Amino acid sequence: MSITPPPRPPQRRPAGNAPKRAVVQEVADLTPRMRRVTLRSDELVGVDPVSPDQRVKLVFPEGRVFGDDPTEMGRARRRRRTYTLLDLDAVTGTAAVDFVLHGTGLAGEWAAGVRPGDEVGIVGPVGRYEVDPDADLLVVTDETGLPAARAVLAELPAGRWARVHVEVADDAERQELASAADVELTWWPRGDAGPGEPMARVVDHLGDVGPDTKAWVAGEAAAVLAVRAHLLGTVGLPRAQVDAVAYWTLGRTEA
Ligand SMILES: Cc1cc2nc3c(=O)[nH]c(=O)nc-3n(C[C@H](O)[C@H](O)[C@H](O)COP(=O)(O)OP(=O)(O)OC[C@H]3O[C@@H](n4cnc5c(N)ncnc54)[C@H](O)[C@@H]3O)c2cc1C
Repeated sequence: MSITPPPRPPQRRPAGNAPKRAVVQEVADLTPRMRRVTLRSDELVGVDPVSPDQRVKLVFPEGRVFGDDPTEMGRARRRRRTYTLLDLDAVTGTAAVDFVLHGTGLAGEWAAGVRPGDEVGIVGPVGRYEVDPDADLLVVTDETGLPAARAVLAELPAGRWARVHVEVADDAERQELASAADVELTWWPRGDAGPGEPMARVVDHLGDVGPDTKAWVAGEAAAVLAVRAHLLGTVGLPRAQVDAVAYWTLGRTEA
């Protein structure tokens, strides 16, 4: 009787700066405006996750796939957009990206029409954020930060407390956010308000924020600035406890 040896674990490798060619495996709608795209790349095999909110630059081809020219992905500077890379599996080389279907823009339109077999380039992942298992967490975000917020909450251990405020287009955009921690989740449907307005107004509803709280803030640039200013100025949290990143800017393309 022959015994098949167990598969060897893939050799670990750094993510590097060169775009990796990835192929769309699956497309699934999580909500009417949030689409999950599962990707696979031989060049992701052996690449480990670097942080729960790790980001990549996705490079979008002119057509559905890249041509034979290996420099095409590297040259397409204006066709790059930043996204959160979820569920990176170093063994299978698969990962997922949750796209907000926001209507306009290169990435938004690509996601609206994506099909299995389509290609993207992936640069990264990079990221340095670490969940502090000893701190309570405050999350303020919109849909674009929801994928990363979900991954951050999944790492928060039992016994901790997280308050999470998420601006979404409407009630149909609510999603399950699993965590071992105690999570108080508040959804802020936009209704007739402009993007970022409900998120900026969250500062009026934060209540007491303890001095040891760690804050994670992401979304439209003006809203992120407003929330950050409140946490640093009015609440008085030290800068090191506030991670605030503009994920997009109203009226401006990332390119
Ligand atoms: C670190 C990081 C992680 C991110 N992770 C994610 C993620 O996981 N999922 C995700 O969906 N987005 C994510 N984003 C946001 C995403 O990069 C931007 O929304 C990006 O602008 C989309 O590119 P685009 O080509 O569709 O639009 P662009 O060409 O950049 O912009 C075209 C127009 O669309 C508007 N626009 C852009 N995004 C939105 C939006 N969300 N809602 C309404 N209008 C918009 C712009 O203001 C502009 O007027 C992340 C951004 C950063 C910095």
